[in-house]
Amino acid sequence: MASDALLRLQGVVKQFGHFTALHGVDLDIHEGEFFTIVGPSGSGKSTMIRLLVGMDELTHGAIWLRDKRIDETPANERPTCMVFQSLALFPHMSVGQNIEFPLKLRNVPAADRKSRALELLDLLRLPQSYYSKRISQCSGGEKQRVALARALAFDPEILFFDEPLSALDYRLRKTLEKELKDLHHRTGKTFVYITHSLEEAMVMSDRIAIMKDGRFEQIAVADEIYSRPVSRFVAEFMGEVNLFEVSTEDGSTLSGAGLTGNAPSGLAAGSKGLLMVRPEYIRFVADGGTADYTVKGRLLEEYALGSRIQYEIETTEGQTLTVEKLREDRTTSALGGEVTLGFDEANTHLIEGD
Ligand code: ADP
Ligand code: MG
Repeated sequence: MASDALLRLQGVVKQFGHFTALHGVDLDIHEGEFFTIVGPSGSGKSTMIRLLVGMDELTHGAIWLRDKRIDETPANERPTCMVFQSLALFPHMSVGQNIEFPLKLRNVPAADRKSRALELLDLLRLPQSYYSKRISQCSGGEKQRVALARALAFDPEILFFDEPLSALDYRLRKTLEKELKDLHHRTGKTFVYITHSLEEAMVMSDRIAIMKDGRFEQIAVADEIYSRPVSRFVAEFMGEVNLFEVSTEDGSTLSGAGLTGNAPSGLAAGSKGLLMVRPEYIRFVADGGTADYTVKGRLLEEYALGSRIQYEIETTEGQTLTVEKLREDRTTSALGGEVTLGFDEANTHLIEGD
C-alpha cells in the first residue's frame, strides 16, 4: 500500500456487543510526530489505543504500519509499546531490573541489558547509581522516568501513552509534560498520546485529534483547533469561548444574539451559523469607540486569574459572555453596570450551520 504514513487506520470499527465504540475511524500518523488524541471520558480513546497496540481486536477495518498490515499481528510482535496511567513497575525490584525487564523477556544477554539500562538512565537524566536503587525508594517523578526508560528499552518505533500523568499532582504533571516533550525531541520517536486535558495536549503535541462518541471531530495542529474549530463541540472543548447564533436573510444584514454589525463574509444569504470569538479578543468599548461588532450587556462578575482578569457579562438577549483582559487593561466599569463590548471580524471564526 502506497502511503507516507507510519501508522494508518482505515475504517476502524470496534463494537462491544450492540454498542459501537468506534465508528469507522480513518487516521494517518506520521513518523516522528507527537500526536495527541483528546476527548471526554468514554469517547473511545483507550479503545483505539488498545487496538493499536494489539490488546484488543477490531470488528472491521485495517491498521497499517508503513506497508504492512498489522491488525492481526500479536501485540508482542508489534514494534510498539504502551505506557499506562498506573505505572505498573515492580516495586520489589531495582530500577535496573525494571528497565531491563522487557529485554530479559526477549532473551537479551545480561551484559547488553545492563549497558542498555545505563544508557537509558542517561537519556532520562537519572544518575547511573539509580541502577541498583529500589523502586520503593524513588519519588513519583523518578518512577515515571523509570517507566519511560523501560518503555524505551527495546527501542519501539511508536510509544503509546494512555493518560500517564492524570493521577499526578499539578506541579509534577507540568514538569513531566515538559520532560516528555523533550524526550520526544531527543529520541525522534513517534509518540501517540491520550489525554482528556486539553492543556496537556496543547503543551506537547504536533497535532491534536478531538474525539467525540467514537469519531474524530477534528484533526489539526493546536493553533488551528483553537482558532478555527469545526464545531461547537470542539470550540467549547478548547477552552473558554463565546459563540453567537447568527443568521442573515440578504447576506449583509446580521441578525441574532443582540449583535450589531454586518453579516460575516462567510455567511451566505438565507443561512445561519455560529460566530466565535475567544475571550481575549473582546474589548470594552467606551462612548464613541468602534468595533466591527458590538453587543450591549451588564457586567456580572470579575475574577482575578493572576496576570489576567476574567469578566462575565450578560447580554440584553440573556447570553453569558466571557471576556479576558490583562490586569493592566482591566476595565473601570462597575459591577452591575451597563457595558458595551466590541470585537473585530478578523478575530472571529464562523462555524457554518452548526
Ligand atoms: P475513553 O478512554 O475515551 O474514556 P473508552 O475507550 O475506555 O473511553 O470507552 C469508550 C466506550 O466503550 C465507553 O462507552 C465504554 O463504556 C465502552 N467500552 C470500553 N471497553 C468496553 C468493554 N470491554 N466492553 C463493553 N464496553 C466497553
Ligand atoms: Mg481511557
